[in-house]
Amino acid sequence: MSSAMRVRVKYVLQALLLCCAAALSTLCLYRSLRLPPADKKGSSSGSAWQERAPRSLSFGSRDYEVVSNGQLLAQYDTNELQQPLDPAEVTPALQVLTSISDVFISVKTTSNYHKSRLDVLLKTWFTLAREETWFFSDSHDPEYQERTNGHLINTNCSSSHNRKALCCKMSVEFDTFLRSDKKWFCHFDDDNYVNIPKLLSTLGKYSPQEDWYLGKPSIRTPLEILDREKKTQSGINRENIKFWFATGGAGFCISRALALKMSPAASGGRFISVCEKIRLPDDVTIGYIIEHLLKKKLTFTPEFHSHLEPMKFIQQRHLPEQITFSYSGQGKDQNVLKIEGLDPRIDPTRFMSLHCYLFPHYSFCPR
Ligand code: UDP
Ligand code: MN
Repeated sequence: MSSAMRVRVKYVLQALLLCCAAALSTLCLYRSLRLPPADKKGSSSGSAWQERAPRSLSFGSRDYEVVSNGQLLAQYDTNELQQPLDPAEVTPALQVLTSISDVFISVKTTSNYHKSRLDVLLKTWFTLAREETWFFSDSHDPEYQERTNGHLINTNCSSSHNRKALCCKMSVEFDTFLRSDKKWFCHFDDDNYVNIPKLLSTLGKYSPQEDWYLGKPSIRTPLEILDREKKTQSGINRENIKFWFATGGAGFCISRALALKMSPAASGGRFISVCEKIRLPDDVTIGYIIEHLLKKKLTFTPEFHSHLEPMKFIQQRHLPEQITFSYSGQGKDQNVLKIEGLDPRIDPTRFMSLHCYLFPHYSFCPR
């Protein structure tokens, strides 16, 4: 090899080495920015999560005959979530591209919560699904009607937190979805943050032409109730029915194919009659119709989170993989995500900080 050639090879090698070093340091810098050090593993195991009845079952609890509602799923660490339902229920790798326009996003709210709960949603995830998201409330509110681009529906249901009022809203949500041309019905509460890209990539694994009910129960075993339909010779019914239901406060999705099958029992206001018959809350009634009446299974989807779970145990680096989040309480009883970002006085729900973590380019995000 000539000396000129040797010099050239040396330069090329040096340049290559420099490129590698630059790529490596960029990668390190990126990781340190995006992935703050994970919480110490197992740090969650010390403090016990106060167990309480699933919220959807706890109001008016003497109103219905729950034989056994299992145990609350406790201690969440998204690394260690168990799949209580048969994983074989999940469709194998079938990636149907889902676009936001395929989804009907339904948010249950009430006049008292427009200001306190909708503001943060309108600033954050709603901006990613303006056309597809509808708010189901119980009053006419010109201010929020405008701020939601005309997407605040007055259901004319009563504005109280009783079974009848909540079932009435779910009934209108369901009927409005059926009248739409959307492939998926996804219900959320107004204290949910919806991670839109993750919602879409999850739905993309399932075909809306098949029957799918995606969500997460908040109890360990299926709900067991007395079957009011069954009459024995003695007149005393001792038969129980068992079914899973997805907690409404964590959000759930139903494919159009399944919604159409639910239609004879649930459309045109019939949903309210089923709620009344079994005397159970709206989310439980959805589970009853799908699992008990239609014999279809809930697909356990651990990425939905209600405030029945301690939000602080969802590690920051796992946030992008979750579909929903929630918050509750105040002061020392508050249950919110543990995330750096905006001042808690500006962002008490932590939803703005979460949004900034997922989408740092928003104008309100710290720079
Ligand atoms: N909600 C309602 N009417 C009421 C109270 C609550 O429609 O009178 C809605 C509320 O907007 C939310 C859901 O019901 O979407 C659950 O309410 P909340 O978070 O207050 O109670 P939780 O059941 O989660 O403890
Ligand atoms: Mn709530």
